[in-house]
Amino acid sequence: MSEITVRSDTYLANTYAHFPVEIVSGKGSLLYDESGKEYIDLGSGIAVNSFGVADEAWMQAVTAQLGKVAHTSNLYYTEPCGRLAEMLCERSGMKKVFFGNSGAEANECAIKAARKYASDVRNIGMPVIATLKNSFHGRTITTLAATGQEHYHEMFQPLTSGFVHVTPGNVEELYEAARNNQLAAIMVECVQGEGGVIPLSQEYAQAIQKVCHDSNILLIVDEVQTGIGRSGKFFAYQKLGMEPDIVTTAKGLGGGLPIGACLLGEKVKGVFHPGDHGSTFGGNPAVAAGAISVVERLTEDFLAGVERRSQMIWQTLSGKPGIRGVSGMGLMVGIDTEKPAPQVLARARENGVLCLTAKSRVRLLPALNIPDELLMRALEVLCDAADPNS
Ligand SMILES: *Cc1c(COP(=O)(O)O)cnc(C)c1O
Repeated sequence: MSEITVRSDTYLANTYAHFPVEIVSGKGSLLYDESGKEYIDLGSGIAVNSFGVADEAWMQAVTAQLGKVAHTSNLYYTEPCGRLAEMLCERSGMKKVFFGNSGAEANECAIKAARKYASDVRNIGMPVIATLKNSFHGRTITTLAATGQEHYHEMFQPLTSGFVHVTPGNVEELYEAARNNQLAAIMVECVQGEGGVIPLSQEYAQAIQKVCHDSNILLIVDEVQTGIGRSGKFFAYQKLGMEPDIVTTAKGLGGGLPIGACLLGEKVKGVFHPGDHGSTFGGNPAVAAGAISVVERLTEDFLAGVERRSQMIWQTLSGKPGIRGVSGMGLMVGIDTEKPAPQVLARARENGVLCLTAKSRVRLLPALNIPDELLMRALEVLCDAADPNS
């Protein structure tokens, strides 16, 4: 153990079980540790490094902006912030964007927007938001309350009130929740990421859409993990044919720097007024410049490449010894292995491949531009790691 590990274990709050790897540098989908060992990265910093690490175009965009002005606060106009908002609206049909610094912060904004709309327009006194069981929406006290997993709640009572959790796939429960005339919004992930990489079925997605439409309930889609090309479309809801009123996104948007965005559609575009909400760092011009370089490269052609790599993964892994099943969408992949996932990860890591877990599954979130040759090499290592006889 080098001093990096010792110092980190001594001084960092004990909130993460770190993998025993000290990353010092990287390029694209390759990472290097203290000893110079090379790893193929199939996690991209949890779906953050959309174009891998030390990506040339992204670095150039960020450093050019650093040389002009890195931060101004939102009291002034800057070019990158407005341009990024415009691009996000063009790609989604949404009308307005609020920038924060994380997924949780984007979701906090969505929750505030939904509550304010409920109070302003529908005259609801104590609005309720329905989310799904097994969902994940963040770590702040309010987004924890939104998260439909009891074990995250236990230690942190009292949580923010005003949330109910319904069972994914159960349309009856959805209608039951909608009979409560205080229901302001339904918030869902298109693929439950932290929950095990479980996609919503098309039928259930349509049922949610219909309930929202029929009862003037806002539809909030949490695209913090699924957004910005990861699903093979710009947003995953576009694949499921949903028409959200609010979309949140974060992880992959900044290409490696912190940013979160809450996109407001036609119904809610006018809900906020000056002073209603804010974030000092939100829309930071240096981060926004990097995000523009990510978004402008997500062309139809590029997204077809994401879809093609996704198919390579499914074809390579499906039916291999020790692999019970594959789930997910685009370059968000869950693998149900016979061996416990941590064992699979440890062996892959020894052999130079870094993966993640989600619940009991192995989870892959490679960079969207991972070269085919690296991806195939990594999958070979992963197949070996999952094989009970190896
Ligand atoms: C990661 C994640 C969040 C939280 O994002 P942070 O940036 O960690 O606050 C929220 N929702 C979903 C779906 C996520 O995957």
